[in-house]
Amino acid sequence: MDSPTPALPDHNQTGVDYLAPWPRPPVRGTTIDGHVHLVAARHADLFFAAADHFGFDQIVSQTPLEEAIPLLRRHGHRIHLVAIPNWQKLASPNRLDDWIRRLDAFHHLGAKMAKLHLAPGTLHRTGLSIDSPDVARILSEIRARNMIIMTHVGDPEIWYQGKYAADPTFGTRTAHYQQWNHLLQQHRDWPWLGAHLGGWPENPDYIHNLLTQFPNLYLDLSATRWMVREISSRRDAIRNLILAHPDRIIWGSDQVSGDTRDFHFYASRLYCHRKLFESAHSGPSPIRDPDVSPGTPTLNGLALPTHILQKIYRDNTLKLLASTTHRASSPS
Ligand SMILES: [Zn+2]
Repeated sequence: MDSPTPALPDHNQTGVDYLAPWPRPPVRGTTIDGHVHLVAARHADLFFAAADHFGFDQIVSQTPLEEAIPLLRRHGHRIHLVAIPNWQKLASPNRLDDWIRRLDAFHHLGAKMAKLHLAPGTLHRTGLSIDSPDVARILSEIRARNMIIMTHVGDPEIWYQGKYAADPTFGTRTAHYQQWNHLLQQHRDWPWLGAHLGGWPENPDYIHNLLTQFPNLYLDLSATRWMVREISSRRDAIRNLILAHPDRIIWGSDQVSGDTRDFHFYASRLYCHRKLFESAHSGPSPIRDPDVSPGTPTLNGLALPTHILQKIYRDNTLKLLASTTHRASSPS
């Protein structure tokens, strides 16, 4: 009796050979993945094997504090840390104590940036709001340590129109972006990184206006399925957006490590990002997307010019990471 054909894995619906060789990105100097969640030191070998295969030398990683030291000990030359709280503790009444202690510890380990996750699901789970005194306090603590502010505000438009619309306690995009805009106005003198193209790749006109309004704001291109789906479906508009703001967009994969994730899983994300930003490829994405059914979305590559790739894969990220270096308060 014939054995059944094994199902294609979610990360490879189209039979891509992820082991096939790739040239390094067309970049002079060290390349940097600007948005990574390498969550445990034990994941690093497989994680970096895939990064090596696709030519990425360093990562800006949101690693839990408990894993940061073993990770730095072995791979310190490849890692820029981002300070993060213990996400599990954010719903507890004394969340600020633990959060500020972790900010301090990350600061002493050399982290130059600190992240606040302010997406609808997190706000809902923790009871935080973007305009809350707790968020204002953390922002001032980040600034007091001379660190860059990073936020994730917003989520895929499909979610706002689906599960969030069905439950008003998630709030609306309009309210979330008004509150974020207010914070950006208060901190317009300070470098700020907005993840996932400001959390609204579906609206390049709004994002263009945001970048124009706030010269201190940088955005990253991270998240694989979300970016492949939404950038591909408005290819020319997003390409024009990047070309209009070439010095404040950085690339990141939003790769998340895990005990069940192997080389091929990590490779699938890097494969899609390089196809999306470097090539003019048009065809089905190899990665199954639960927000698109049936099948997988189309990937339409942006074919960004080499001088832009140099900026998003390296120069802009280094510029951002150095941006608070000379802001230390001068002695009185
Ligand atoms: Zn992320």
